[in-house]
Amino acid sequence: MSKKRSLGTVCIQGGWEPKNGEPRQLPIYQSTTFKYSTSEQMGRLFDLEESGYFYTRLANPTNDAVAAKICELEGGVAAMLTSSGQAANFYAVMNLCQAGDHIVSSGAIYGGTTNLFTVTIPKMGVECTLVNPDASEEELEKAFRPNTKALFAETIANPALTVLDIEKFAAVAHRHGVPLIVDNTFATPINCRPFEWGADIVTHSTTKYMDGHAATVGGCIVDSGNFDWEAHHDKFKGLTEPDESYHGIIYTQKFGKLAYITKATSQLMRDLGSIQSPQNAFLINIGLETLHLRMPRHCSSALAVAKYLKSREDVAWVSYPGLEGDKYYELAQKYMPGGTCGVISFGLKGGRQAAAEFMDKLKLCSIETHVADSRTAVLHPASHTHRQLNEEQLKEAGVDPSMIRFSLGLEDPEDIIEDIRQALED
Ligand SMILES: *Cc1c(COP(=O)(O)O)cnc(C)c1O
Repeated sequence: MSKKRSLGTVCIQGGWEPKNGEPRQLPIYQSTTFKYSTSEQMGRLFDLEESGYFYTRLANPTNDAVAAKICELEGGVAAMLTSSGQAANFYAVMNLCQAGDHIVSSGAIYGGTTNLFTVTIPKMGVECTLVNPDASEEELEKAFRPNTKALFAETIANPALTVLDIEKFAAVAHRHGVPLIVDNTFATPINCRPFEWGADIVTHSTTKYMDGHAATVGGCIVDSGNFDWEAHHDKFKGLTEPDESYHGIIYTQKFGKLAYITKATSQLMRDLGSIQSPQNAFLINIGLETLHLRMPRHCSSALAVAKYLKSREDVAWVSYPGLEGDKYYELAQKYMPGGTCGVISFGLKGGRQAAAEFMDKLKLCSIETHVADSRTAVLHPASHTHRQLNEEQLKEAGVDPSMIRFSLGLEDPEDIIEDIRQALED
């Protein structure tokens, strides 16, 4: 597979590469299992001695083709699909951790991930320290412990819209001998490729722009293959020492750069089972075919609406990293000069109450727990996605109580602006 083809071509032709006479469109391998003629060969598959499909929980050709497309888009070496973005982040972290370990994460992350890291994984014995992504390297360093196994952050935080200084985070992670895991859901590889800036592992909620049509919940983990697990042998024994559940296989020795994803698939997916369904992988692939065309439109509409809101007297503040003067404009220009994402946030001078009234009056834009859809969606994070967080956690997550999260769809921007105007004025 040529690494040189451009992203738009990969969106269309990556992953599934049919041979002579095979289906042009990615086939849906709607089968739990795969047939073999000798018992011997089946045994080798179970021992990871041979690669091949045998049970869809472990691998499926439709899923693999879509993972390969996302992998190529990100410039990684291996990838796996998961049933959701939550599963992707959970596996990405647990592939490196066990009870007694610790991770450091940016506090400006998706509310569901905050719960995962600060409520659920601690119950499994893995602690998480949240840090302010804008803190200095010295500040960030203080959060690290000898048992820290990963640093986590989002390229563009949902919904805080902070832009990550990826190089800064990568430097701090590497100084402490751990990989940087970046959730690249909002930027997508069309706008930012975190591996080029030092990130080691990328995760996605494919539910968002990759699907792009609110059809399918899904996730993906991509490995750059760049992190040297053996250089930190004792920290990552799960990868560098024998896995008893595979007769003592050592992932780094047997699979080299594919060690991390092979372990995630053959161990975590085998045991925890959050697989993507082939039907849904097919839908994600159709979404991916237009990702490079949709992202610029999401971004240009977001910029137009951000500028419109900024010009209004009744709007207290507007946050959009693509907007000149935004706190994150310079970082966005560095890491994603072609565009950021289609999500903006703003607050009305009337605060929480005005936000509710405004949202109820919208006609074209709808109230939804979703972003990155082809239809414009609006949400009040403090009352919805981040409802479980207390005031302090809201602050840490960068969520102002007045914040309205507005996800620009693909409708004509003039109609969206007119809908906002009437909801504010009429
Ligand atoms: C939505 C989202 C998730 C969770 O993904 P699901 O597919 O809903 O499980 C994780 N990270 C980010 C940045 C998200 O926006």
